[in-house]
Amino acid sequence: MRFAVCALLLTLASAVAADDLPATPAVRKAIPDRLVVLTFDDSAKSHYTIVRPLLKQYGFGATFFITEGFDFPTNKKDYMTWDEIRELHDDGFEIGNHTRDHLGISDKTVGRLPEQLQAIADNCRTHGIPAPVTFAWPGNAMTPAAFETLKAHGIRFARRGGAPEYPYDEGRGFAYEPGLDDPLMVPSAGDARPKWTLPDFIRAVDQARDGRIAVLQFHGVPDTAHNWVSSSQQNFEAYLKYLHVERYRVIALRDLQEFVDPEVAPADYRRVIESRREALNPPKTDTTPGKDR
Ligand SMILES: [Zn+2]
Repeated sequence: MRFAVCALLLTLASAVAADDLPATPAVRKAIPDRLVVLTFDDSAKSHYTIVRPLLKQYGFGATFFITEGFDFPTNKKDYMTWDEIRELHDDGFEIGNHTRDHLGISDKTVGRLPEQLQAIADNCRTHGIPAPVTFAWPGNAMTPAAFETLKAHGIRFARRGGAPEYPYDEGRGFAYEPGLDDPLMVPSAGDARPKWTLPDFIRAVDQARDGRIAVLQFHGVPDTAHNWVSSSQQNFEAYLKYLHVERYRVIALRDLQEFVDPEVAPADYRRVIESRREALNPPKTDTTPGKDR
């Protein structure tokens, strides 16, 4: 009897301990609910003029993914200067790599990735900014053939879009699940679009719970060169206010290293993508009542 009581107590104790432990070796430290990563792509001028002061007002962290693609070198009405990018770094924001030419990475173009990463890293160093440790896949095109190159260039986390789980159009996505998603294929829980309103934003960030992290993708606020991914200042201010009022913790992508070990990758990142797709589109043939599965 005494043995049985001891065994019961031991079982209870280990159950409590198991709850406190990270569920996967990818997790270094328990991930709090309401953890959000804000990311801003394509070096838009409004990142400096509009986004920067608003983020500073709330004390939020963020990552700005820099590319010199499009007409960045000559068009300083729509794109930041490197001095403005350096100011973002000086403010404590993260500067991430988005390739020199905004090159879509595929099995055919992956050979050009090293020079694309190096060019941005070199310009960062020239302007007193450390070489980036995070990356955003341009045009949300991606291939695992790039993983070794990204790692060799010091990239710890790489952010993708909401596809392939969701179609590109509405900007919907799943939250990042460390241990299941590859750190080099971090999904966007939301990819802000001009038609988005506060409920779309809430749907994205509300996923930040139970060990999942909501990584948000924005372009310009507004995006004066790419209107199909623009966000209005008015809506953006409402999104930030929501995060503040609801007490979200808002950080840059590099800051995930506090919670997630970027060295730990799943055996196959496609598994979680497939299971999400199946959850969204259950197979129709398995719904017959009484059918033996
Ligand atoms: Zn981009």
